[in-house]
Amino acid sequence: MEVDVAVVGGGPAGSAAATLLAGAGRSVVLIDKATFPRDKCCGDGLTVLALRLCERLGLDPGGIPNWQPVNGAVIHAPSGWTAKFPLPAGSGQFAAVVPRSELDAALLDLARQAGTDVREDSALTGIRIDRTSTTLDVDGIGEVATGAVVAADGMWSPTRRALGLTEEGYRGEWHAFRQYVGDVGPAGTALHVWFEADLLPGYAWSFPLPGGRANVGFGVLRGGRVPIGETGAIWSGLLERPVIREVLGESVVPEGRHTAWPIPARITSAVLNHGPVLFAGDAAGATDSLTGEGIGQALLTGVLAAESILAGGPADSIGPRYRNAVKRELVTDHRMSMTLQPLMSNVTTANGVVRLVGATEWTRRNFARWLFEDYPRALVVTPRRWRHGVLSREGAYRPQPHHP
Ligand SMILES: Cc1cc2nc3c(=O)[nH]c(=O)nc-3n(C[C@H](O)[C@H](O)[C@H](O)COP(=O)(O)OP(=O)(O)OC[C@H]3O[C@@H](n4cnc5c(N)ncnc54)[C@H](O)[C@@H]3O)c2cc1C
Repeated sequence: MEVDVAVVGGGPAGSAAATLLAGAGRSVVLIDKATFPRDKCCGDGLTVLALRLCERLGLDPGGIPNWQPVNGAVIHAPSGWTAKFPLPAGSGQFAAVVPRSELDAALLDLARQAGTDVREDSALTGIRIDRTSTTLDVDGIGEVATGAVVAADGMWSPTRRALGLTEEGYRGEWHAFRQYVGDVGPAGTALHVWFEADLLPGYAWSFPLPGGRANVGFGVLRGGRVPIGETGAIWSGLLERPVIREVLGESVVPEGRHTAWPIPARITSAVLNHGPVLFAGDAAGATDSLTGEGIGQALLTGVLAAESILAGGPADSIGPRYRNAVKRELVTDHRMSMTLQPLMSNVTTANGVVRLVGATEWTRRNFARWLFEDYPRALVVTPRRWRHGVLSREGAYRPQPHHP
C-alpha cells in the first residue's frame, strides 16, 4: 500500500490529524491495533480546549449517548474546606464528561467520513526510514509506503520504540487509576476534585456520567510522596474515605475492574519528530503537567501535525515547522504548570491555594475558566496570545438562536 500520510493510533491525536489531512484531500491510512469502540483508561473529562477542538473537527455530541455536560467543579482542600467553582452558563459548554469508548469511536468515525482508510486490528510492528521513503510494517496489511507519519500511538509509542528513540526506564510523570461506579448519590451528579494530603500534588476525582454513574479515580506524581508500588493499597481504600463516601453515597457500586495507566507530561523534552515522523498526543508527552489532562493536548498536537504537513514545502521543513508550532502553543503553558506544581505538593500551600482561588465569586469563576483551559495556562506571560475577548470567549457547542 502507498499513501501520502500514515497515522499510527486512532485515539484523539490520531483521529484529529487524519480528519484534517484526509479532509484536505491527502490519501491517509490510519492503523490501530485495537478494534473500536475500545476503552482507554482515563478520567473522561473534556476541558473547553478539547471541546472547541471536537467542535472544529465536526463532532456532534448528540450522537454520543453518555455525553454529560458539566457546569462547574467542587474542589475539596486537604483541610476539608470545600468551594464550588462555576463555569459560565448559557454560552456553550465549558466542560463535559464523555466515556472514552464512545468519544474515541466517534472521533475515529469523523476521520473515516473525511476519507481516511481506517484499519482496525492492525498493529505497527516496524518502521524504516531511508533517504527517499518511509515504510511501515503493519500486521494484517504488510508494508505501507508513505511520505509522512503521524505517530499518535500513545504513552508507550511503538513507533518511537521501533525507531530506537525510547528512553529506557521512562514510565511517565504521573500514574493514575480509574474505576466506573454506579448508583451514586445526589452529590455525585457534580464534578468533584479532592486534594487529599497523601496524594499531593495529585488528587482524586469523581466525574459525573448520566444514569447515576461516575468515573472515579486518582493520580499521583511518579517520584512523589506515594511510591507507585503502594498505589494499589490507596485504591482499595479510596471509596471508603469519608470525604469521598459522603459525595458518592452509601449505595455506590463499582462496575467492572479498575485500571491504571501512566500519564506522560514532558513536552519540553520529548522527541517531537524524527525525519518525516511527527509524534503527537501522549506519544509526545503532551499532557498538562499540573492536572494530567491530555485529551485537549492530544487533539491540538494532532491538528498541529496535520497543519504542518499540509503547509507543503520541502519534506525536511515539516519537522521543524511542527516543533515550532508545538513550542508556540504548548511549551510556555507546560513551564507554567511545572512552576505551579510545587504549590500543590505541600499540604499548607495546597490549603492556601484552594482558599485563595475560592475566596470570592470572581476568583471562583475565573479560576474555573483557567482550570478548564478556557485560555492557555500561561496566557498572562505570553502577550502574543492576547486577543480582544480572550478572557470572555464562549464555550463550545453554543446553542443556536431559533429563527421563527
Ligand atoms: C487514569 C487517567 C485519567 C486521565 N484523565 C483524563 C481526563 O479526565 N481528561 C483528559 O483530558 N485527559 C486525561 N488523561 C490523559 C488522556 O487519557 C491522554 O492524554 C489521551 O488519551 C492521549 O490521547 P492520544 O490520542 O495521544 O493517545 P491514546 O488515546 O492513548 O491512543 C493511542 C492509540 O494508539 C494505539 N496503538 C498503540 N500501539 C499501537 C500499535 N503498535 N499499532 C497501532 N496502534 C497502536 C492504541 O490502541 C490507541 O488507540 C488521563 C489519563 C489517565 C491514565
